[in-house]
Amino acid sequence: MKWETVIGLEVHTELSTKSKIFCGCTTAYGGEPNTHVCPVCSGMPGTLPVLNRAVPEYAMRLGVALNCEITRHSKFDRKNYFYPDLPNAYQISQLYAPICRNGYLEIEIEGEKKKIRIHEIHMEQDAGKLVHDPRGNGSFMDFNRCSVPLLEIVSEPDFKSADEVIAYLEKLRETLLYLDISDCKMQEGSIRADVNLSIRASGAELGVRTETKNMNSFKAIARAIEYETERQIEILEDGGQVVQETRRWDDEKGISYGMRSKENAQDYRYFPEPDLLPLYIDDAWIENVKSNMPELAYQKRERYIRDLGIAESSAVVLTVHKNISNLFEAVSKKSSQPQEAANLITGEIMRLMNNANILPEDLSIDADKLSVLIGFVSGGKINRNAYKETVEAVFTDNVDPEKYIAEKGLAMVSDNNAVISAVKSVLTENSEAADSWRTGKTQVFGFLMGQVMKKLGKGGNPEIAKKALEDALKER
Ligand code: ADP
Ligand code: MG
Ligand code: ZN
Repeated sequence: MKWETVIGLEVHTELSTKSKIFCGCTTAYGGEPNTHVCPVCSGMPGTLPVLNRAVPEYAMRLGVALNCEITRHSKFDRKNYFYPDLPNAYQISQLYAPICRNGYLEIEIEGEKKKIRIHEIHMEQDAGKLVHDPRGNGSFMDFNRCSVPLLEIVSEPDFKSADEVIAYLEKLRETLLYLDISDCKMQEGSIRADVNLSIRASGAELGVRTETKNMNSFKAIARAIEYETERQIEILEDGGQVVQETRRWDDEKGISYGMRSKENAQDYRYFPEPDLLPLYIDDAWIENVKSNMPELAYQKRERYIRDLGIAESSAVVLTVHKNISNLFEAVSKKSSQPQEAANLITGEIMRLMNNANILPEDLSIDADKLSVLIGFVSGGKINRNAYKETVEAVFTDNVDPEKYIAEKGLAMVSDNNAVISAVKSVLTENSEAADSWRTGKTQVFGFLMGQVMKKLGKGGNPEIAKKALEDALKER
């Protein structure tokens, strides 16, 4: 029997709006517990939610990028359940009329393109966080994350493997970042994926699925998929039946275990949210979103190649993260030298980041200083070695390039008098070598050149020094 894996994903992403979805509290990550709260988001009786206009705006931006239909008459629904981290004992979400529907995201695996259909994107509020006392004296509630806006992106069951899932998540993450609607920091939980997985005999009807939660890296997601695939195949091959349930992944042990039997929508007693008006989206609003769409990564890649003459392999590196493409665009524009800027970032900057273990999302470096340095090296003020050294000093200590070059004596000695006097003293100190050059032993030139460069220090200009040395040798 040939088995086929079927996977559908529910991805939750926290939006980077300034304030929460239904009140004015900040969405900033962390903070002292219960300092980003107010009566609305901590679920006090008698308070009323007011929709943050930026949330549907961000949702539509994603909807347009994922080729979705925008729902003109959207609305919110109340999903009832009790969790200690949900002070209202219900979550405001969307069930009946989600804001975006019927889209797709195209992924590419080993040169093959595949469209993953998007069933819907809906808006909802996040829950708070339970903090368990490590000494076992109880648990504490932190409501700071309560009501941070979330988008849930629900795919159709179109994936066949972990590779496809990872390719999709990477593309989705890139899209969210370039749309400027989420910081997508997995370690901070701003993007989380639930994996629905079932097994069927190839071509047969869909099998019973499980939903695995609690993976906090792409690697963990891939491992959880492999694990669940094998687990279900084993059950089926033994003649058993898969139980529909929610499972929790334990990354340390590399296994998942059943958490609760799967609820159905009826269990949540959904009903239209009575505290919020329906959301009517008119053409003008949609047109406005469409005409203000930020440039996506693939569009940037195409533009770098077409308009700036950057090689495709470099264009790929320059768009791995929005931070990198922003840096590239700033340096490229300020220096007016896109190729030099591309070389600098894909070469030296990437090398320094790797060595220091800095992720693209955490990179912060002064684009102005890098542009100044590009001007210096291409204008002959410093040589390539001094350039590298100063770039590193800017990267690690944010030094002022001009001061640093002056202090370290890195400016290229292009002053003829200084070079000529260095050549003179080298020839006096090494008169034997100079004489043997004149008798035809030209191989000593390299040695003499080395002596001259040594005298000139780090700022030696090899071209000028070479010319001066040749002239001086021929003169006598
Ligand atoms: P719920 O909201 O109850 O979790 P949905 O029917 O909305 O359920 O589906 C959630 C996700 O599960 C979707 O991404 C969908 O594609 C996927 N899915 C549904 N049925 C299956 C199945 N038999 N096998 C794998 N994935 C499935
Ligand atoms: Mg679900
Ligand atoms: Zn609040």
